[in-house]
Order: sequence, then structure tokens, then C-alpha cells
Amino acid sequence: MTSEYHQTIVIGAGISGIKASIDLTRNGIDTLILEARERVGGRLYTIKSDSGIPMDIGASWFHDCLDNPLLHKAYDQGHIKFYYDDGRFDIYTKEHGLVDENHHLQAAADEIKDYLKQICMEKYTPETDVSLREACLDYLKLKGYTLTDELIRYAPQLIRYYEMWIGSSWNALSARQVGTDEHFGRNAMVTNGYITFYNDELDELASVSGFSKGTDLIGSKIRLNQVVYKIRFDDQSKQIFVHTRNELTRLETVYRCEYLICSTPLSILKLQDTSAKGAIEWQPPLPSDIRAKLGKVSFSGLGKVFLEFKNCFWSKETDRFLYLPEPDDELTEAYKTGKSITFEKEDKEIELTSSPDPFKYVVLFMNLYRAAGVPILLALISQPLTGFIEASSDEVIWKFFKPLVRQITGKRWTSNPVSIHHTNWTHDPFSRGAYTGVSVGDDVEACINALKEAKGIFDDKGRVRFVGEGIIEQGNGCVHGAWLTGKREAEKVVKLVNRGKL
Ligand SMILES: Cc1cc2nc3c(=O)[nH]c(=O)nc-3n(C[C@H](O)[C@H](O)[C@H](O)COP(=O)(O)OP(=O)(O)OC[C@H]3O[C@@H](n4cnc5c(N)ncnc54)[C@H](O)[C@@H]3O)c2cc1C
Repeated sequence: MTSEYHQTIVIGAGISGIKASIDLTRNGIDTLILEARERVGGRLYTIKSDSGIPMDIGASWFHDCLDNPLLHKAYDQGHIKFYYDDGRFDIYTKEHGLVDENHHLQAAADEIKDYLKQICMEKYTPETDVSLREACLDYLKLKGYTLTDELIRYAPQLIRYYEMWIGSSWNALSARQVGTDEHFGRNAMVTNGYITFYNDELDELASVSGFSKGTDLIGSKIRLNQVVYKIRFDDQSKQIFVHTRNELTRLETVYRCEYLICSTPLSILKLQDTSAKGAIEWQPPLPSDIRAKLGKVSFSGLGKVFLEFKNCFWSKETDRFLYLPEPDDELTEAYKTGKSITFEKEDKEIELTSSPDPFKYVVLFMNLYRAAGVPILLALISQPLTGFIEASSDEVIWKFFKPLVRQITGKRWTSNPVSIHHTNWTHDPFSRGAYTGVSVGDDVEACINALKEAKGIFDDKGRVRFVGEGIIEQGNGCVHGAWLTGKREAEKVVKLVNRGKL
């Protein structure tokens, strides 16, 4: 079988792969991108409702606005519209309806946050780590005597707001690491589709590649439907052979290169079953140290549900409505009586035949009427609920959300949505979840370092580099983090190529 040669091959046309390609191409390095899906963008994915409203199924926010390098770029390009949705934030429970700020709930939850940051981060190692739920019980044992009964019951529920950031439940979230989820500055929500930013990057790649627009790259510099399933190093020729299978035609193709940039999500890279869709067999295998470190990171499952209505019948003044679950009676009893609890350390799937009780989950509704003037409530959810919702029919989904929408609107009635759109990342073989998480026992830092160094692969000349949201501390899990890894690793390849020329 003949094989097409390129100096560098990039696996994946997400934001990290595109950024790496831009910088390599700009430095005169011939680059080809192989993408498994039939579209570019990866976890930047904007769809439109029937009424033409853009909805981000992937990322929505420019996070960490204080040190997000993409924010300024996007402002300068002038194509992105932003809204800072950090205005009014209302908290609801089944018992109280709208929670009065005088309940001191936020202050008590902030103290648990400090407990996680200052005590749990020091106290636990990956080996001794406990879940966020267990840490809440430990906190109550330490400080419960200062709290009212109401705060004992509800402050742990408010700390579950972390679930909305990371996408795993408090049973799985790591007490040691959840507090490291630092934010630098405000968060700006994109209201006209994050893909607008991606398309600007694609145009930049076209421009440095001598094409007039980004879409011209499809079929030439970017090949779609190319699922990479094997990467083989030939010690004789010192070349890397990349084997792909076309998703549509089943046609197999082999490409050759000297340098490889792999941007598959860590959920794919850590797959041990090489027959799984999207999984890659490395020949020779990746070093055991890297494989072991990959075993120490988890992938979360943030989910999004867009409930589009005919018109807005909820408060036009509130940016976010946070629905808190009913108190955890088992936890309260354990604190009061000293009775022990067996804590789960991972998220268990919800049976598709069951009817989960909506009042048992944290749900954050974003008011897109305020953000973008559209009659949509965007619900954010976490695992294991995400897996259930993403596999359910619109009817089941609406049955779940309807009582919560009633709660936050304070109305006995609610009109039915005209459309429901939702994420499907947990069932998508090329993402297998939303982004890198922080579960009990994870060692994210060790994995970042191992993949950043990428030592001992093939002939150990540094010709294989890893990029993507999970391989960086600054902006970990985020678009700007992914973009920065593309920049960082392209720089390393450029150095290697230039050194070879001397
Ligand atoms: C629901 C959700 C909400 C989010 N919200 C935000 C947010 O508000 N703000 C923010 O900053 N970030 C957010 N993120 C995270 C952000 O979207 C990601 O960090 C970022 O887009 C990841 O880019 P990447 O290049 O690392 O990976 P990806 O975009 O996943 O790119 C990797 C590419 O590799 C391809 N691939 C996988 N396997 C193979 C294979 N075997 N062969 C060939 N190609 C393969 C994939 O198809 C994909 O296109 C969110 C993510 C999700 C899922």
C-alpha cells in the first residue's frame, strides 16, 4: 500500500490541532490534519434551532478573562458577541422556592470551599483522596457546631455547584483537587456561536497556507472522516505511519510523517481496548509510565439542554437560576448520630428505564433571554444525569425538567418547549465525555507533566507531541488551554525541525 507523506501530521481538527497547524505552517512546515468526524471544530460545535438561533453544544464561555489570550484576539477580530452573565444569580430549592439571601447559604458554602482549598488539598494524596460528598461530612464534623440546622442541610448542597463546572457528581469529584479549580477573572458567554471564533482560526490557517478561506482547506490540508486507528514507527526509515479508516467508505489509508501531533481527547488516548471506536493502537506501545499516568485522569460529563419556548415567561432580570437538590438526609444523620456511610467514589449510570427524581440533582439554568434576547432556558447538568438525558427522548427530557422550570418561574403552569436540543458527548466515540475531570484519586498534574514531556516514545527524539485541553494547567479543560497547548507543542516541533537543518 502506498502512503502519502507530510512532514507533520496532526490528529484532530479541534482548536488545539488547528492552532498547532497554524504555527507549524507559518514556520514553513508541511502539515496535514486527519479528523475522524465529518465536521471540523471538535468540542466547538454550534448548531441552529429551527428558528435560526445559534446554540453551542460544546463550549459557550471565554473563561478566565483576566488571562485568556483568546479574548483580546476575538475582540480585535470583532466577529464574536459576548455577554457577561454574572448579574443576578438566584438560588431555588423545593422547600423554599427562591432562597432568601439572608439564609447565609452562600457564606456557609464559601467556608466549605475554603476548607477544600486549605485543608483537603494539603491533607489528601491521590491515594488517600476522598469524594466531595465525604469531605462535606468531614467539614460538618469540624464546623457543624457553628451552623444552623438549615445550613447543615443545605450548605453541602450548594457546594455541589462544582458539579456544574466539572460535570461529575459529588460522589466522584475529588476533595483534594476540586478546590484547585481556580478562576482568573470573569467569564464571557458567546452569544452568536463559538464556532465563529474557530472559523476565524480556520481562516488564519488558510491564509498562512496560501488558500483564500478556511473552507477551502477541507479535502486538501484537512481530511475528514479519517479515523486514526494505528500509529506505527518504522525504525529503519525513522518515519511514523498513521493508519486511518474512512468512517463512511471503510477505505483504509496510510500516511507517513516525521512528526506527529496528537490532539485526541485524553478519554481516547487512555482507552486500553484498541478495538473500541476512535481508539489508537501504538506500535511500539506508548511507554508504561505514560500509560500509567493516563490511568490517573478521568473524563467528566457536563451536559447541556436547550429548552426553546415560544416566548419568555420567566424572570427577565435574572442571569442564572440555580436549582439545589433536596438535602442529603443520610449525610445529615451521619453528622448528627456518628453513623457511618459507605461512600461511592464514582458515578453510577442511571438506568434508562428509570425515572430520575429531578429534585435530587443540581441543575443550573442560564437565561438566554437576558444573554441574547432569545426565549431559551439552557440547563447545565452533570454525570450521571448527563448520560441518562443524552440517551433519552424529548418527551422524557421535558418530563424531567418541567417541575424545575415551574419552580424557577414560580408558576403552576408552564408552556411546553417548541424545541429541545442537547449535547451527546458522553455517547460520542470521539469525545467519550465532555472534558478532563477531577475524580477521586486522579493525579492530573502528573499526567500533564508526562504528556508534556512525552519521553521515551519511539526513538525518543521528541517527534510525537500531545496537545489538547487536558495537557495544561492554565485553562485546563478550556478552549484557551487547548489553544495554548497547540502553540506550545508546535514551537517544540519547529525547534526540532530547525535543529535538524543545522
Ligand atoms: C458541553 C461542553 C461545554 C464546554 N464549555 C466550555 C466553555 O464554556 N468554555 C471553555 O473554555 N471550554 C468549554 N468546554 C471545553 C472545550 O470545548 C474544550 O476544552 C476544547 O474545545 C477542546 O479542544 P481540543 O482541541 O483539546 O479537543 P477536541 O475539540 O475534542 O478536538 C480533538 C479532535 O480529535 C478528533 N479525534 C478523536 N479521536 C480521533 C481519532 N481516532 N482519529 C482522528 N481524529 C480523532 C475529534 O473528532 C476532535 O475533532 C466545554 C466542553 C463541552 C463538551
